[in-house]
Amino acid sequence: MRKLGGVRAPHRKGTAASAPERIPIPPEVRLPMSMHIGAPAKPVVKAGDAVKVGQLIGEASGFVSSPVHASVSGKVKRVDEYDAVTGLGALSVVIESDGEQTPHDGLRAPEVNDMKSFLGAVRESGVVGLGGAGFPTAVKLTVKDISAVDYILINGAECEPYITSDTRTMLDETELLEEGALLLGKYLGVKNIVFGVESNKPEPISRLAEFTSRRDGMEVRTLPAMYPQGGEKVLIYQITGRRVPEGKLPLDVGVVVLNCTTLTAIVKYIKTGMPLVSKCVTVDGSAVVKPGNVVAPIGAPLSSLFEFCGGLKGDVKKVLMGGPMMGIAAPSLDMPVLKATNAALAFSEKDARLPEETPCIRCGRCVSHCPMGLMPLEFERAYRLKKPELLERYKVNLCMECGCCAYSCPAKRMLVQYIKLSKIMLRERQAADKAAAERKEAAV
Ligand code: SF4
Ligand code: SF4
Repeated sequence: MRKLGGVRAPHRKGTAASAPERIPIPPEVRLPMSMHIGAPAKPVVKAGDAVKVGQLIGEASGFVSSPVHASVSGKVKRVDEYDAVTGLGALSVVIESDGEQTPHDGLRAPEVNDMKSFLGAVRESGVVGLGGAGFPTAVKLTVKDISAVDYILINGAECEPYITSDTRTMLDETELLEEGALLLGKYLGVKNIVFGVESNKPEPISRLAEFTSRRDGMEVRTLPAMYPQGGEKVLIYQITGRRVPEGKLPLDVGVVVLNCTTLTAIVKYIKTGMPLVSKCVTVDGSAVVKPGNVVAPIGAPLSSLFEFCGGLKGDVKKVLMGGPMMGIAAPSLDMPVLKATNAALAFSEKDARLPEETPCIRCGRCVSHCPMGLMPLEFERAYRLKKPELLERYKVNLCMECGCCAYSCPAKRMLVQYIKLSKIMLRERQAADKAAAERKEAAV
């Protein structure tokens, strides 16, 4: 097997021993209609409506979409747009909590007895990739030819520094993971179900091994304690030796990958009928008084998580949603917890200062550390030269924006930023080429 790149970033998993605690219900939550990849959900409530926990407030608006449910009981205050963490406007439903957390009367455990009803339940649960990706899980599991899939990989590789929410899932919800693995085996009929966990998590590994060792076709695979073992394509390569070609999906190489917390969320819905309405989030960073893991209603403002953890201290310079390698800077503490939010990190000035970029010395470190075998320095050059054809040739779309290149660069080049801009440039060029070709065809 080809040696993968990656980096040995400091783990900083100080919260791994912190069992998640529920935060008090905030007075207000904001539930964006787009917490997933695909078409935004369509609101089915309006200002003034009374809602209860688990009630549908946004219906999926297409195949690649996901429903959204109320995470608190109370009254809909407004349905409006807000500036999401991406910087784009996003439709959301704001609910004023009554503090009662009354469950919706219509909640029933779904009847699941075959693949079709299992996939229907996954769709209704509102579960999306909870490891950060946010891809609707029902879509991921809807496979044209299931006999072509021989591996389901359960991703327990929580490789980003600081984040320990999946670690807590593996420790606190081991039984649900066993039930989930059995459900996948039963309804999808896939023979090999492999949990991937890095070697720096011996306790989760031994907890999982307790049941995988007595189940046919199940196993735990220990991965190197390196970043980014949790990247989907990296995980697939490490466990099966298969490479997902450019423009293809894991399914094309016979593999489905699910995050471990995603799997427990599905099982919870199938057992109780309560859709995804809360999330375990790691709250950490040098500006947090008492770091720990918390369970928050989806839509809770980040400020309510930090308050629960003793508040923020010193000169807070940066707040991240997600980890330090792939997380996104939050412009305000009002930003809501999303389905896929696994960490809220706050850093002081000293830890958030950006290093100064110096000229590239063509040392090649970014290339040798790239787990996808790409040439990140060439992306920056092609972007600066405004040459989308070079970006295409160097396969910029294979980049998963893991940040290993920028992390290892001695010149502190902001390679991921250039890569993100490069992808936009290439997309625009491809769209322009397509439109020109269509115009030409129409003129013939
Ligand atoms: S690691 Fe940095 S300095 Fe070295 S080749 Fe890559 S971009 Fe240039
Ligand atoms: S961000 Fe992209 S180019 Fe850089 S190391 Fe990761 S996959 Fe490679």
